Amino acid sequence: MKVLFASAELFPFSKSGGLADMAFALPHALGKEGVDIVAVTPLYSFVNIEKYHIERTAESLRCSFGGKSYEITLYRTCYRGLEILFIYHPLLCDRPYLYGPPGGSYPDNDLRFALFCHALVELAKFRETELLHLNDWHTALTPLLLHDAGLRIPSLYTIHNLAYQGTFPPETLERCGIDRRHFHLEELEFYGEVNWMKGGIAHADAVNTVSPGYAEEILTPEFGCGLEGFLRRHRNKLRGILNGIDPEIYDPSKDPTLPASYDARDLRGKERCKEAYLVELGEKRKDRPLFAFIGRFVEQKGVQWVAEILDELGSLPLTLTLLGEGEERFHRSLEGGTRRHDNLHLRFGYDEALSHRIYAAADFLLMPSLFEPCGLNQMIAMRYGTLPLVHSVGGLKDTVHPVGSGVCGEGLSFAEGGEAALLETIRSALRLYGDRQGLERARCFDMGCDFSIGRCARNYLSLYRELEEKR
Ligand code: ADP
Repeated sequence: MKVLFASAELFPFSKSGGLADMAFALPHALGKEGVDIVAVTPLYSFVNIEKYHIERTAESLRCSFGGKSYEITLYRTCYRGLEILFIYHPLLCDRPYLYGPPGGSYPDNDLRFALFCHALVELAKFRETELLHLNDWHTALTPLLLHDAGLRIPSLYTIHNLAYQGTFPPETLERCGIDRRHFHLEELEFYGEVNWMKGGIAHADAVNTVSPGYAEEILTPEFGCGLEGFLRRHRNKLRGILNGIDPEIYDPSKDPTLPASYDARDLRGKERCKEAYLVELGEKRKDRPLFAFIGRFVEQKGVQWVAEILDELGSLPLTLTLLGEGEERFHRSLEGGTRRHDNLHLRFGYDEALSHRIYAAADFLLMPSLFEPCGLNQMIAMRYGTLPLVHSVGGLKDTVHPVGSGVCGEGLSFAEGGEAALLETIRSALRLYGDRQGLERARCFDMGCDFSIGRCARNYLSLYRELEEKR
């Protein structure tokens, strides 16, 4: 089976979140399972061509739509055994940011990613692709374009986050080369706008979310982002497949970014990682539990709840470290709250190596997300022996179970109640921290749980096979 796996971001070349991690880890793992798979992504101008030995190929593609013609050049590399094809056109790629400057988006993102989708159709033809695996709204027009081009190539559309749907005013239809007949309620129309995510759901042969819990939740008004009714009409082709993490990248026994290595048999290295990180923070109180928050500072991640309890956290016997970037309003509230207390430490920015040092150093990872399609942070944390403390929704509900339950993925969680429940659960974590034996048992247990991308890839493979049989 020849598979083309397409994503607007792909680690380590470009990344804004978990999508990029999965866009490398999943095809990489599927390749190891014997699937003939190629990953496709745009060659943004900030991608380091020399470092990753990215070379121009002799091939090019021509896409004609909206009264214009676009010449696409193709580049390729092989990264850790995975073949990666890069699509290059200045319109799509020559930008300093993926989707727009912090907090904003480029006004021509519809045209940029329409070009990506049209290029995928051409590429699928040219490479005699047998299955197209598409990810998130940036690639969601592709199944519709395949149908319109009369191509019977099965497609799988993966929703990593239903909150980002790709909606644009109706003018987008013409300039993006989308036939107007698709602009109605059962396809692209969404409150007078054109919704790309709906196009993906309507036209792909199968649709999945990145955890079983989220696949259920999005059928309800609370989590459906306005698409719950539409999704319910397509529920027969909707699945939930839990994401996984790359056990080679996230491995405390081999992680080159850590000051000390460790595994579940001997956690002394974890203690050394914590000591070193506290020195990095300038924190002298070494006997306190270290809580961490790593992620985008946006409403989805529950930062407002964290911001609201900073004064209480400031008076508790704990250390808190926050790493992330996002919306200005959260930057301000976090900055204000952390400045008042010397046990609360805030770092703005995106820093992969620092995030690894924090995962290893921390005792607890806070993930109070309002909704969470899957979440990778909690799985990474558990691999590093750090107990997650989560709001029990979506993928967090699927992966985090009470300490002592014996179900893989032990941590602390709260189901309802916002910032008050978060604070209460942090107090429970403080009590657990006092029970050194119980804590160590839970840590070792979590480190042995299989949240690997290999397990996830095998689930995708059986879905691929189902789609192949239906052809
Ligand atoms: P998202 O909704 O952002 O995709 P996920 O939990 O699925 O959330 O994935 C987040 C990924 O991004 C994880 O690999 C996490 O470690 C990483 N990450 C998020 N914010 C930062 C940051 N500020 N610095 C380094 N890594 C980060």
